[in-house]
Amino acid sequence: MSGEERADLVVVGAGTVGGWASYFAKRDGVGRVVVLEQGLAGQGASSRAAGIVRAQGGTPTTVGLGRWSIDFYRRQAEELGTDSGFRELGYLILAVTEEDERAGRERVAMQRANGLDVRWVNAAEAAALNPTLAPDGHRGGSFLETDGCIDPPRNVRAYGLAMQRAGVELRERRAFTGLRTESRPGAAPRVVGVDTSAGPIATERVILTGGPGLRAVGRLAGVRIPAGAVRHTVAVLEPLAAFAVERLPMVFDIGAGLYWRLEEGGLLFGWSDPNDRPGEARSIDWAAYDRMRERLWGFVPDTRGLGIRKIWAATIDFTPDHLPILGPGLDPDGRPIAGLTVASAGGHGMMWGPGVARVAADLAVAGRTEIVDTADLGLDRFDEQGRSRLAADPIALPFPVSAEEKPDLGVPTAAGSERGAASSGGRGGAAADRPSERGDETGEP
Ligand SMILES: Cc1cc2nc3c(=O)[nH]c(=O)nc-3n(C[C@H](O)[C@H](O)[C@H](O)COP(=O)(O)OP(=O)(O)OC[C@H]3O[C@@H](n4cnc5c(N)ncnc54)[C@H](O)[C@@H]3O)c2cc1C
Repeated sequence: MSGEERADLVVVGAGTVGGWASYFAKRDGVGRVVVLEQGLAGQGASSRAAGIVRAQGGTPTTVGLGRWSIDFYRRQAEELGTDSGFRELGYLILAVTEEDERAGRERVAMQRANGLDVRWVNAAEAAALNPTLAPDGHRGGSFLETDGCIDPPRNVRAYGLAMQRAGVELRERRAFTGLRTESRPGAAPRVVGVDTSAGPIATERVILTGGPGLRAVGRLAGVRIPAGAVRHTVAVLEPLAAFAVERLPMVFDIGAGLYWRLEEGGLLFGWSDPNDRPGEARSIDWAAYDRMRERLWGFVPDTRGLGIRKIWAATIDFTPDHLPILGPGLDPDGRPIAGLTVASAGGHGMMWGPGVARVAADLAVAGRTEIVDTADLGLDRFDEQGRSRLAADPIALPFPVSAEEKPDLGVPTAAGSERGAASSGGRGGAAADRPSERGDETGEP
């Protein structure tokens, strides 16, 4: 491709994963780094997130990605002169059923073995840590003091500034349209360039990101990526004195996939509905809002009668096993395409995004990473139908069981997902959804 534009690394997508990956690669000494963004930087999932950040992962790998990301958020001001707005609030992951408690205690043991200072607290201790939480209707949960949240739009600003200062070339409104590869006798193909909406770029290294659009990006590259996209909704309630405090632990009602945290003197809460079909979020499901609102009221009685300040539904990315995708792109014969790296945070881009980006840059530049063991995280864990051979991460939102538009794959789901499906499936009344009155359905004593 003589006479054409050249780069040492092309990153597709200027969300938090592509943005931070391009910065890390450039800072590590890669010459010309070009980021292709079909729209504007951050306009995908990354600017619309709720900002929850936790190191309380369900597997050693996700604990590692969460820890690395929180450490990075904490050192940003020193390293970059700007930050993503990380605030340490603490995070309580509640158990409602006996089974939740058993699984939660096991999780805590695994997390502690992986270096997290997390502990189990009973219901009274949980309510003492977060005085707005009802002391009944749950069995306490796991608690980590150092989890917290970021400000997603500020994170977009932070990686935008970091990219600019490092000398990354951001090309907005320039879409990736295809991958150029060269086949080699007896060997897997290798990357020689990309096609874009404004002409080709010659390069030997490409990182594919795309968040909820990653499956389509993969298709353009000739790579099958079983990543999904589905509606996720976030609302912020009007301010109240009880929430006008510096610090109050965030809470996750894992069985229903409902979480909440402080936001500007009020409460922000968000949820996914496992009954939603995969696809782009186009509207707010007000019936689901009512169910979640009432469920929240059961856990946080102070929220009763509060009006909404804002609400949005946006498209979130997910993977069939709720784990990140980090590894080489594979050709139709399953052979790794030399020079091609695929990166997805699987719907956890605020909590794992910087870690995922760091790993993607490492894999693209050095072919290996020391952040986490990536042996199982590649596309080769999925079969032809997109089913993963790994057990799902047990701490996840109740996404649809499949990334396909037709959810018929029977992919193993997180335990929370199954309960979430049951609890948000049909009972709509305020009283019926109050946690203290769900004993028949959940096994609550
Ligand atoms: C409502 C909501 C709440 C969320 N809350 C949380 C939370 O509390 N905690 C958490 O950890 N995660 C949360 N998430 C998930 C998190 O936001 C995502 O996992 C993360 O933003 C994904 O980052 P990304 O860079 O992979 O994708 P994105 O931010 O979507 O970026 C991908 C970019 O690729 C671009 N692109 C796509 N196709 C092309 C192409 N052909 N050429 C060029 N560019 C292309 C897109 O325009 C987009 O800008 C939430 C998501 C949503 C929607």
